Amino acid sequence: MTHSTHSKPAASETGDPFLLTPGPLTTSRTVKAAMVHDWGSRDASFIAINKAVLTRLCEIANGGGDYVTVPMQGSGTFAVEAMLTSFVPPTGKVLVLINGAYGRRAKRILEIAGRETVVHETAEDTPPDLNEVEAILKATPSITHIFTIHCETTSGILNPIVQIGALAAKYRKGYLIDSMSAFGALPLDARALHVDALAASSNKCIEGVPGLGFVVCRRAALGACKGNATTLVLDLHDQWANFEKTGQYRFTPPIHVIVAFHQALEEFTAEGGVAGRGGRYQSNCRILLEGMTALGFKPLLAPHLQAPIIVTFHMMNHPRFIFQDFYDGLKDRGFIIYPGKLTVADSFRIGCIGRLGEKEMRGALAAVREVLQEMGVTDSATRAA
Ligand SMILES: *Cc1c(COP(=O)(O)O)cnc(C)c1O
Repeated sequence: MTHSTHSKPAASETGDPFLLTPGPLTTSRTVKAAMVHDWGSRDASFIAINKAVLTRLCEIANGGGDYVTVPMQGSGTFAVEAMLTSFVPPTGKVLVLINGAYGRRAKRILEIAGRETVVHETAEDTPPDLNEVEAILKATPSITHIFTIHCETTSGILNPIVQIGALAAKYRKGYLIDSMSAFGALPLDARALHVDALAASSNKCIEGVPGLGFVVCRRAALGACKGNATTLVLDLHDQWANFEKTGQYRFTPPIHVIVAFHQALEEFTAEGGVAGRGGRYQSNCRILLEGMTALGFKPLLAPHLQAPIIVTFHMMNHPRFIFQDFYDGLKDRGFIIYPGKLTVADSFRIGCIGRLGEKEMRGALAAVREVLQEMGVTDSATRAA
């Protein structure tokens, strides 16, 4: 392809392409700048920063005094695995609600840990069937926990965590949530939902850099987890007990990541917390959906199922639409999108999260229009799949 139709590529505050992906994301210059120092991991100034981070995360989940944040070094999956293998005892049985890759991953974690599972799986564009979930709970009283994904990033679908929580409460089951791609952008009231634990990470909607997962835990439920863990490093109870005793991590923490996360949380608060952050993403999502639809693309999800996090679009059914060229053309113009991961449809994804606003979303749409023209997809509006 020739790239003569566009001028200078769009770029972030630090001159990088914008990441329209589900994370890691485009972060602010100030978040990255927070990392150009060294701290001792046992030094009081780092311990104070870490404590402020954990307290703030608990507040965002409306945890009050009943909840505590236990951090876990590593990517988000480390936190999910720590949550599942610490909260579910060897005799436990988890009802796993699956409608995408992250639900399937949780099932795999439980299987490796030797925990029994019961699965309710729906298609990637379909939320769990709550009547069916209730029927399973009635039929299988040995279920001890329900696990669900808040926003299943595979498609961008919003799962009904409040209604699932009501079933967990009615049948007195533990309730575990992977809120990775939603935490900080979509409201989640841990106390009202009576969740046992929810997992998320530094590099999604709080807009930090990758390297720290965390689990917001109900103190009473966490207190009962001693001895459950299947590994030393992912033992949340032990990690927590050590914090209570010393304020410190058991093993080397990703210090720079945590200090950047602290800065990201300050910026999150300055933006107005969940309402402000979620509002910006909502606006990004609306601009993206309107613009892409006008260009002939069709979103996978019905509007009421679409979380304002990431949007899945069907591949365009046009003889001149070649995804690799589309991807490369957008990258040349400063926008990185994300391939699809779906089994139900040939698709790609564009994220709404990270340090992006109206200007960047409109820039991305202009780039999409240019690339379509360059590929010779000029009648796209009539060619949508
Ligand atoms: C990003 C994400 C994770 C964690 O992925 P990592 O690559 O381990 O950070 C888990 N669940 C969901 C729903 C996610 O979006």
